[in-house]
Amino acid sequence: MDESSQDIGCPECMDLLADYVDGSLPKDKAELLEWHIEGCAPCVAFVNTYKGTVDAARRLREATMPPELRRKLIEFLKRSDLRSDLRRDPR
Ligand SMILES: [Zn+2]
Repeated sequence: MDESSQDIGCPECMDLLADYVDGSLPKDKAELLEWHIEGCAPCVAFVNTYKGTVDAARRLREATMPPELRRKLIEFLKRSDLRSDLRRDPR
């Protein structure tokens, strides 16, 4: 929407998210993605859906990414989970 303040848009963000969770996304792009999601409600909703589909949090533990980045994403996913009404994680 306001591309002047963001380097990537939602469609790109959603493309990158899978690689981000995989840990195969280059650090600079991962940071852009992270930065975008922080302030983007639609992408938060998308992550909720994504998580329900592929259990991103679990794959995250197997992924190789900087601990700081991983911690932030886990926090992010947890925060998103509070609002999730489609949990498919039986525990
Ligand atoms: Zn977005």
